[in-house]
Amino acid sequence: MLIDLRSDTVTKPSPEMLEAMMAAKVGDDVYKEDETINLLEERIAKMFGKPHAMFFPSGTMANQTAIKLHTNPGDQVICDKYAHIYNYEGGGASFNSGVSCKLIDGNRGMFNAQDVIDAINPPEFYHNPLSKLVEVENTTNKGGGACWDFKELERIKSVCTAHNLGYHLDGARLWNALVAKNETTEQYGDVFDTISVCLSKGLGCPIGSVLTGDEKFMKNALRIRKMLGGGMRQGGFLAGAGLYALDHNITRLSEDHNKAKELGEHLKMLSVVKHVEQSETNIVIFELDEVKNSNAFISKLKNYNILISDMGQGKLRLVTHLDYTNDMHSKVLDTFKALKF
Ligand SMILES: *Cc1c(COP(=O)(O)O)cnc(C)c1O
Repeated sequence: MLIDLRSDTVTKPSPEMLEAMMAAKVGDDVYKEDETINLLEERIAKMFGKPHAMFFPSGTMANQTAIKLHTNPGDQVICDKYAHIYNYEGGGASFNSGVSCKLIDGNRGMFNAQDVIDAINPPEFYHNPLSKLVEVENTTNKGGGACWDFKELERIKSVCTAHNLGYHLDGARLWNALVAKNETTEQYGDVFDTISVCLSKGLGCPIGSVLTGDEKFMKNALRIRKMLGGGMRQGGFLAGAGLYALDHNITRLSEDHNKAKELGEHLKMLSVVKHVEQSETNIVIFELDEVKNSNAFISKLKNYNILISDMGQGKLRLVTHLDYTNDMHSKVLDTFKALKF
């Protein structure tokens, strides 16, 4: 039995999800004739109280589209130094939108309203790039699945409004934050101009993300998605998985969170583990006493058929997910107890 804790993207569709996919009514979505994609888009838009939503093949493409909707070449995006859009989208922000990022040195991928004020370039000072967009991530990926304080997100919204900045949420794992903090999609829809959510992470779909937002921004989204090559045809087979996941796979995320917490507690008991970041959702980031032990630690676990990721700089990462069963969990906890160094 292979136990893959590298990411929550490793899940495979369950038989029930596959059945929902096969039963989907489809059409050519480039002509807006795919009933299932239309249903998914309407459903997500309604959940967030937004007029529009659009289905994308990946979260990266949804974020890249959002950046393009908010900016012109030469503009600047304010985000945390850990941001996925800055670190893990292949330099897409500069390639696709011609923008630079002003990085905030935050805490676990999060910052506060004052940090944003300090990062804004004065718009009349034409030597600086024009600040145009504030981007936040919830939960934070590189920050170890940390959840924002919603009050801070509201304070940042006020800064954006006062300074005429767009406000985008990379909500690849927003579902995890909603469950962990008992928050609602409507709350987030009220605060952000645009929001991307992934169906292919905690919700267990094989593919798919959705971008939702206000008319002002979304009116060009169709053209940009087409330009990026993301106009799909009978994609309803994939959207069907999304609809199934929205019905069945959200509330159960708390199980992933409980397992992650337990993994963190067990890791703390290992003598080679120096620090375990507090786990609020399904990600556990931890550091070993010495960076050079990372490879040995990873390969020891691999001998037990347990896979984890190396985040670099001595940080290791575990992610729990839909396909990480109770049996696998017991086996991992037993393995941690048995590990010898
Ligand atoms: C996974 C992820 C994305 C999107 O990634 P894709 O692999 O392109 O779907 C975006 N932001 C964050 C924070 C992520 O973890």
